[in-house]
Amino acid sequence: MPELVFFSGTMDCGKSTLALQIAHNRAARGLQSVIFTRDDRAGEGKLSSRLGLVTEAVEATPELDLYHFVVERLSRGGKVDYVLVDEAQFLLTGQIDQLARIVDDLNLDVFAFGITTDFRTRLFPGSQRLIELADRVEALQVEAMCWCGARATHNARTVDGEMVVEGEQVVVGDVGMAAEIVGYEVLCRRHHRRRMTSATAQAGALSPDVLPVTSG
Ligand SMILES: [Zn+2]
Repeated sequence: MPELVFFSGTMDCGKSTLALQIAHNRAARGLQSVIFTRDDRAGEGKLSSRLGLVTEAVEATPELDLYHFVVERLSRGGKVDYVLVDEAQFLLTGQIDQLARIVDDLNLDVFAFGITTDFRTRLFPGSQRLIELADRVEALQVEAMCWCGARATHNARTVDGEMVVEGEQVVVGDVGMAAEIVGYEVLCRRHHRRRMTSATAQAGALSPDVLPVTSG
């Protein structure tokens, strides 16, 4: 029975690496996939992992109907055995419905990988729809760690080194945005609530009575 499976986790939990591993293992068995992604760090039409692996992928732009894309490939004689989706949190809710249709109408497995919640601890719409529709939700076993050593369950956004809890839901990291440097860090819930990133914790340890001074 084909399934829609949502592999969920924080950033840095190895989602893309696992997606690439699944693709590799299945290719070794002669199984071919369509890989969708959105806003991968390596650029449009790529699926990459932090460990340096990269493969070609189809950019799931908001205009793309994923179901019709797969139908078209099949009708042109292409071989599609299953579908992989990375950065699934960035998909529109309607595109998640299209994934369910690929499972139900085309009898293909769909493995979607994504972050569940954003830096404000709110569900991404794409992830919410996946939780609603998936046959299975798997929490990834490679767990990310907070700087304190606890399991990292939350994503923090920093702007110029300071943790923020307001702003646009999607801002791709490491990109200068109007001269602001946006970064991300995974934290445990306790330190997400206290807004303590590794940098502020380090500054606090050096001078406990003084707020971290930023220069430049
Ligand atoms: Zn912590």
